[in-house]
Amino acid sequence: MSTVGILGGGQLARMLALEGAPLGVRFLVMDAVADACAGQFAPMVVGDYTNQTALAEFASRIDVATFDFENVPAASARWLTERVAVYPNPRALGTAQDRLAEKTLFRELGIPVPPFATIDNRAQLDAAIAEAGTPCILKTRRLGYDGKGQFRIRSSADADAAWDALGAQADKVGLILEGFVAFQRELSVVAVRGRDGEFRTWPLTENWHVDGVLSASLAPAVLPPALAETACAYARQLAQALDYVGVFALELFCRDGELLANELAPRVHNSGHWTIEGAETSQFQNHLRAVLGLPLGSTRMVGHACMLNWVGAMPDAAPVLAEPGGHWHDYGKEPREGRKVGHATLRAESVDALSTALERVGNALGREAQVAPVITRLQDA
Ligand code: ATP
Ligand code: MG
Ligand code: MG
Repeated sequence: MSTVGILGGGQLARMLALEGAPLGVRFLVMDAVADACAGQFAPMVVGDYTNQTALAEFASRIDVATFDFENVPAASARWLTERVAVYPNPRALGTAQDRLAEKTLFRELGIPVPPFATIDNRAQLDAAIAEAGTPCILKTRRLGYDGKGQFRIRSSADADAAWDALGAQADKVGLILEGFVAFQRELSVVAVRGRDGEFRTWPLTENWHVDGVLSASLAPAVLPPALAETACAYARQLAQALDYVGVFALELFCRDGELLANELAPRVHNSGHWTIEGAETSQFQNHLRAVLGLPLGSTRMVGHACMLNWVGAMPDAAPVLAEPGGHWHDYGKEPREGRKVGHATLRAESVDALSTALERVGNALGREAQVAPVITRLQDA
């Protein structure tokens, strides 16, 4: 029986452990905090990701290492590869950790991207704003998540405020300025590549964010098939270029029928949580199959699915549990503003049935605004 080591003990590690149990996989989680929520289901090594003693103990007890947390220092990932198999490989991880490196790779592969420029000082910021035009977004190159480490620049008059907010990060994690994409939709491709190069994607997902945090995901996205094929082709190119093993998500903006790549998440992804109940094989199980060198499972969808994220605190479970296709996930985390504490997935045979289920749940929980854009999209279908 193999033991999979997971760096990072959040909800992604927790769902990997839950989905891996039927495969007979054992887990060991490493996290800097002892109360990480995956620790409720898997033994833990508590330690900083740069702590060699903790890393050495972790490595000695596992057969293969993978990540729930994309910002494990690349040096620690490389150190581990000398002791144990690590998937995805540290080069893939390192590329996806740095917005400049990932956007440069997208461009090299011919995948369209918004205009972008690296920013090392204030003068470069002014020049880049002039070049990209406004609106635009200043982001940290590394360590950002859930929209943190970003400043939206509406006009060149905002340059001072943007520099006040993020300028100090230029020497620490680097900065990048990106043109603002007036997209109609945000999409993601969740994809998996096996050790043998076998590649699969789940049906394309449409995503809605509130304050930079994912709020809802709908699959399959209501889209022309040619667009979905293009998105999957981009994901395949990236997987091959990075010799990627495991699950990843490619986030895309869709503007006037054109796809622009935003970022690559080198791990199982929030926009793929619907696959637990909505697909033949979930992203979590396929990630484990990939890193263990097992055959990949079918990514075929079972009906239509919508995932709703619970941010801050868990709502009442009853309205979701009362739905025939309602599924509840409570991550067992302490409530905290802005924190992802759980999600629900509603699954239905038809677009109409999904739409009415969303309406019932939205009304019962006072979450009409969260479900409204999804219902509107389903009604267009
Ligand atoms: P995640 O939690 O997905 O890792 P993140 O903090 O890495 O998020 P991004 O995905 O870059 O950040 O941005 C968060 C959200 O902000 C995007 O999903 C999108 O809604 C918006 N956004 C980011 N960049 C742009 C852009 N260039 N143009 C328009 N909107 C953008
Ligand atoms: Mg990100
Ligand atoms: Mg993102």
